[in-house]
Amino acid sequence: MLTGVVFDIKEFAVHDGPGVRVTVFLKGCPLRCSWCHNPEGLSPQPQVLRSVAGDRVAGQVFTSAELAARLNGQANLLRTGEGGVTFSGGEPLAQAAFVAEVIDQLNNLHVVLDTSGHAEEAEFRAVASKVSLVYFDLKLVDAEQHRHHTGAGNERILQNLRVLSGLGVPFVIRVPLIPGVTDTEANLSSVARLVNGMPGLQRVDLLPYNRVAGAKYAACGLAFQPTYDESRTLNPNLACFASAGVEVRVL
Ligand code: SF4
Repeated sequence: MLTGVVFDIKEFAVHDGPGVRVTVFLKGCPLRCSWCHNPEGLSPQPQVLRSVAGDRVAGQVFTSAELAARLNGQANLLRTGEGGVTFSGGEPLAQAAFVAEVIDQLNNLHVVLDTSGHAEEAEFRAVASKVSLVYFDLKLVDAEQHRHHTGAGNERILQNLRVLSGLGVPFVIRVPLIPGVTDTEANLSSVARLVNGMPGLQRVDLLPYNRVAGAKYAACGLAFQPTYDESRTLNPNLACFASAGVEVRVL
């Protein structure tokens, strides 16, 4: 049986998919988005977070059966709330085999995979094909810009998006709005053109920039070094989505 490392389990979550949910945050992410607001999710290993409030460990090891039992224990509540379970991170596909094994042990719960899409295609297929809905992050369509701001190109992400559109699993595109980076007309127009007409697309969600992104870095022993001007005002132009006939929401 596989084990996985989880850095948080959020109960009664209402922003991570339909209805009332339990969100499992898995440790480890291959990207390094300079705006990441979960730096404790980057390293795959459990780690000690140090702050004036004291030390705490981020990262608990579960077997797949232990995690599934904990989630199944809330099945009635989650069904009553028309919700389910969301796997997030970090990047949940950094522990793809573990996540797949947990899903296989769930009692018919609605499952959302919240992913950056930066994963091996085979692992992406294996997990995405098991879930009810995918939240797929699409940050930047331009490969060089993507590399500059996240530490990796987006070729794998775009390929997995194509895979997703052929799986028959509904999905929502999520764009974090980073001032002057992802909220530009060029990027949002490219997103609208790219996803327009994709089978399975439900809508595009735009997530306004979180200005407390840097707050947790020191506790992780990391430096917050944004590759953009945090003080810039967000300026998303939604007209490109309307003209492409793509439903869009600003959360
Ligand atoms: S993909 Fe998400 S978890 Fe990974 S670095 Fe980017 S924002 Fe952080």
